[in-house]
Amino acid sequence: MKKIVLIIMVFLGVAACKTNPFTGQKVLNFYPNSQIFPTAFAQYDQFLGENKVITGTDDAKMITKTGQRIAAAAERWLTANGYPGYLKDYKWEYNLVNDETVNAWCMPGGKIVFYTGILPICKGETGVAVVMGHEVAHALADHGAQRMSAGTLQQLGAVAGNVVIQDEQKRHIFNQAYGIGSQVGVMLPFSRSHETEADRIGLQIMAIAGYNPDEAAELWKRMQANSGGSAPPEFLSTHPSNETRIANLTEWAPLARQEAAKFGVTSFQ
Ligand SMILES: [Zn+2]
Repeated sequence: MKKIVLIIMVFLGVAACKTNPFTGQKVLNFYPNSQIFPTAFAQYDQFLGENKVITGTDDAKMITKTGQRIAAAAERWLTANGYPGYLKDYKWEYNLVNDETVNAWCMPGGKIVFYTGILPICKGETGVAVVMGHEVAHALADHGAQRMSAGTLQQLGAVAGNVVIQDEQKRHIFNQAYGIGSQVGVMLPFSRSHETEADRIGLQIMAIAGYNPDEAAELWKRMQANSGGSAPPEFLSTHPSNETRIANLTEWAPLARQEAAKFGVTSFQ
């Protein structure tokens, strides 16, 4: 039986590598959108049902507007780079939730939540675009799905013989990978490499959407000043350190402008 598990693990590992359009690298991900999105959408709706969603205010409208611009920019970039239809199963949604937690997240398929607690640090639409770009980048690059894949391999290894991943198990793995429960503000931190990747992709997308990429470093300076040493959950990774992150974003901002120029975007707000 052990042998069978091993064979399946190897099969999954080989057959299920997917190319990340943003880096061109192959990554372990054997969960197609069709398997993850329904779970994500259900979790998202459940979350909204259990939390206070703000609608109709200027802030709520700003979240929606910024999200739409970021999503449109992502679509343009993906189409221009040979990935038309990459977002076809996405069902974008942008919600503002009344909670003091300094956080925001994007679940697979474009399901976004901003907490009111992060708005003072965003200091307006461009700051929101920085965070939005970063969170959307995690989703576009399938970071959660990669973590699910890794988690599944671990489970397969742990539960020898139980080679069929049941729905219940899949949900469990999903929750482990995303950490979204009914509890507000709980989103597991991503790994250092995923954080850095999301920063870089997010910066490009925000620039293509017409937002000033120089603001990204400024936002993280405010985040650092606010956190007093402890970062909010999604950004919890003490790695990359705020210093590294700010240095990276400062270095990459001109590159993001160059990328935006390819799309005819040369002025930024
Ligand atoms: Zn992140």
